[in-house]
Amino acid sequence: MTLEIVTPFKEGIDAIKGTGGETFKFCYQCGLCDTVCPWNRVRNFSIRKIVRQSTFGLPEIEGEDIWLCTTCGRCPQRCPRGVGTIEVGVSLRRIAAEASIFPGPINTIRASLATEGNPLREERAKRGDWAKNLSVKTFTEGMEILYFPGCYPSYDPRLKKVANATVNILNKAGVDFGILGSRENCCGESIRKTGDEELFKRLARENIKSFIDNGVKKILVTSPHCYHTFKNEYPEFRANFEVVHISQYLFQLINEGRLKLTGEYRRKITYHDPCYLGRHNGIYDEPREVLKSVHGLDLIEMADSREDSLCCGGGGGRIWMETAKGERFSDLRLDQALEVHADILATCCPYCIINFEDSKLALDETETLEIKDITEIIQEVI
Ligand code: SF4
Ligand code: SF4
Repeated sequence: MTLEIVTPFKEGIDAIKGTGGETFKFCYQCGLCDTVCPWNRVRNFSIRKIVRQSTFGLPEIEGEDIWLCTTCGRCPQRCPRGVGTIEVGVSLRRIAAEASIFPGPINTIRASLATEGNPLREERAKRGDWAKNLSVKTFTEGMEILYFPGCYPSYDPRLKKVANATVNILNKAGVDFGILGSRENCCGESIRKTGDEELFKRLARENIKSFIDNGVKKILVTSPHCYHTFKNEYPEFRANFEVVHISQYLFQLINEGRLKLTGEYRRKITYHDPCYLGRHNGIYDEPREVLKSVHGLDLIEMADSREDSLCCGGGGGRIWMETAKGERFSDLRLDQALEVHADILATCCPYCIINFEDSKLALDETETLEIKDITEIIQEVI
């Protein structure tokens, strides 16, 4: 794909400032951002160069570079000048979006989100079908919690297993919960990162209306991306719901004695911190504590853990874009899990699971690493 945007000097700077990327002016080009960026483990990519181009008013951007950032959060964490590298990148994507310039697959995704409320070209009416044969109620006002599985656990066969496991756990713990099914949309987090601010706002407003109309106060989510946007971005619409990620809720249920872990799980497990749970929201300990509560489970750390976690490659809308073989971060992550001789690579993000399962297909048949969401492990010991 070749993308070229030519914008006059002054107008370009104003456009970037106007779309939230104004911190580019603090950059002094030290290059620390590029040294931590996972892209530079697999190919050349320079967010520093993109930031520099921004200071010159976006005279020209060629190629696919503005679409590469996964918004993983590593470089802003290291920048000594507080440059919002993610915001600079997203602001350029917004400028491209205003000119209707997107990488090819994103146009299909946008159409599906706009008509069906999900990126998978699935029917909106079937959003709640995953729960048909389970004991799940429709959410009504006064219930303790709304379970919001998100798009992939609602439709994708692999991720439906995670939604099922979550329901089994909630039922075992006696939680009073319900789902909204076709009355929920995609949270909109990832399409926002591709620059389509209008579509994000539409999805967010529709969700907020549905939550308010149905008397929702507390929302339990499977995806760290839903968690991030409900907690940190929906308040931009003056909507403040209590949001809890499943890893936090499991930790709470176990500590309160509502969920008893009675079984043994004698496996060696390494845990991958999803970017939007860890770096973006500081949730590192709860998933580990939940896993440590399981009798017999051997939790080991792999390289690039916690704050330094290696991105799976799925954030920032990259989950919908093709990444060439040899350039997939998830392949590197599986290698790191194998290096510590883990039986299972555990995580708690649908995007990570999709990417890891995909990378697993390329493993040598002698390598038997399993990919699991933490709910899939917990459901086996209750
Ligand atoms: S780390 Fe910050 S100051 Fe250094 S080049 Fe990157 S954006 Fe600029
Ligand atoms: S946020 Fe992550 S992927 Fe994006 S430029 Fe920074 S380090 Fe690279």
